[in-house]
Amino acid sequence: MFASFLQDPDFIRVCYIVAFVLFIVGLGRLTGPRTAVSGNRIAAVGMAIAVIATLLDQRMGSNWVLIVAAVVVGTAVAVPAARNVKMTAMPQMVALFNGVGGGAIALISWGEFRHSDGFADVELYIVIAALLAAIIGSVSFWGSNIAFAKLQELIDGKPIALPGQQVINIALLGVCVGLSVAIATGTTSEWAFVGILIAAALLGTFVVLPIGGADMPVVISLLNAFTGLSAAAAGIALDNVALIVGGMIVGASGSILTNLMAQAMNRSIPSIVAGGFGGATAIAAGDDGVDRTVRSTSASDAAVQMAYASQVMIVPGYGMAVAQAQHAVRELTLELEKRGVEVMFAVHPVAGRMPGHMNVLLAEADVPYDQLKEMDDANPQFARTDVSLIIGANDVTNPAANDDPSSPIYGMPILEVDRSRSVIVLKRSMSSGFAGIDNPLFYADGTSMLFGDAKGSVQEITSELSEL
Ligand code: NDP
Repeated sequence: MFASFLQDPDFIRVCYIVAFVLFIVGLGRLTGPRTAVSGNRIAAVGMAIAVIATLLDQRMGSNWVLIVAAVVVGTAVAVPAARNVKMTAMPQMVALFNGVGGGAIALISWGEFRHSDGFADVELYIVIAALLAAIIGSVSFWGSNIAFAKLQELIDGKPIALPGQQVINIALLGVCVGLSVAIATGTTSEWAFVGILIAAALLGTFVVLPIGGADMPVVISLLNAFTGLSAAAAGIALDNVALIVGGMIVGASGSILTNLMAQAMNRSIPSIVAGGFGGATAIAAGDDGVDRTVRSTSASDAAVQMAYASQVMIVPGYGMAVAQAQHAVRELTLELEKRGVEVMFAVHPVAGRMPGHMNVLLAEADVPYDQLKEMDDANPQFARTDVSLIIGANDVTNPAANDDPSSPIYGMPILEVDRSRSVIVLKRSMSSGFAGIDNPLFYADGTSMLFGDAKGSVQEITSELSEL
């Protein structure tokens, strides 16, 4: 009696609706650092309910040994991987998880093809949905694997393209469409279906290979949106509401995120997918023949400068993440505050290598949220800032984005640190950042450079401050 209640399709539908509500509430809470952790937990509970409801569905069959084995293997691999991943490796982790989702959808579609004897006697809209799921899922799986391999440096992060790449890609898309039309019009050959999976696999690989490693976070977000769409298409094919709604949520949020990231970098999504940016060789200072000199400073001078400031703005960037300097930075702010200095953090939306990268690191180091200023709130503050302390940030402070129409980042909104009374830059060398371009800020009159690993430099400044 109880078992049949649990397996009642209406009960399963109610469970799915509860799961969607939890997904949406969780997603809403991910928009702010204060609520993000609970948002993640709420969405995870929603996912657990959706999984259990799916297992209750009578259409699952009774292959419990296989199902339990899959759950055990998946948990054994994913839990330690997610627990141990370094924050800087998060983009490739997301790529891998996303790819697995796309691959699963493509396999489900293949399973349905076999199960229904090559889609014989299946309604056309279901066949189209299943074929779309197979194509997009396969593109997403292989594209995500290439993104993972580039970010993990298993293959070269530089753009890799075959001659006539665009023509090859269009031909592969043509093969996918042609074989899909053949299946939709009655071919039941499994080879046609496998052909689609192979052509889509090559397409996913060839689309992502020419994209520079550093553009990968945007591409991963785009592939994430693709996986969502393929899941929604599979949901239509399987008549599974959970897949349709869950897939559309992933597709929509992935698309919005991709767009926001592209806007914050002042790049168009087509230009990112066309590739060739971010894998370029860095333009070292002085390569353009212009004589530039930089003023280097010491930890003790930097400490004195900040000790007598009334307002210090800290600008964290990718280098802070590489150096894992966030806890040392927190110590520094406490030391400055002891001396009555007002300390704020200016956080650029694309600082680091993933959305919210700096917020996550600073939250980990217990920096109070009200000290974090988003770009629009931080920029008006710089005019009354005595010292801007740049910790491993580069592109997000580059004034060329405002002043130099020939710069590749011209038009990208930046943190206008050059308006503050003085700037101290912590980095290891004069190397460029992600965009591979020089930063005129480093040669400006009010700027001094403190060379070295960001964590060591911050610790030295703090220790000098405590001795003043
Ligand atoms: P950048 O990549 O521009 O610069 C980082 C700087 O950190 C480098 O110049 C490097 O200089 C320095 N650095 C690296 N390691 C250390 C270390 N251990 N100690 C001290 N310094 C170090 O970073 P930003 O955060 O300023 O800008 C992010 C860039 O990434 C933007 O161009 C953005 O468009 C792009 N991007 C961001 C994404 C996001 O979602 N956040 C996604 C995709 C791209 P040196 O080697 O001399 O030390």
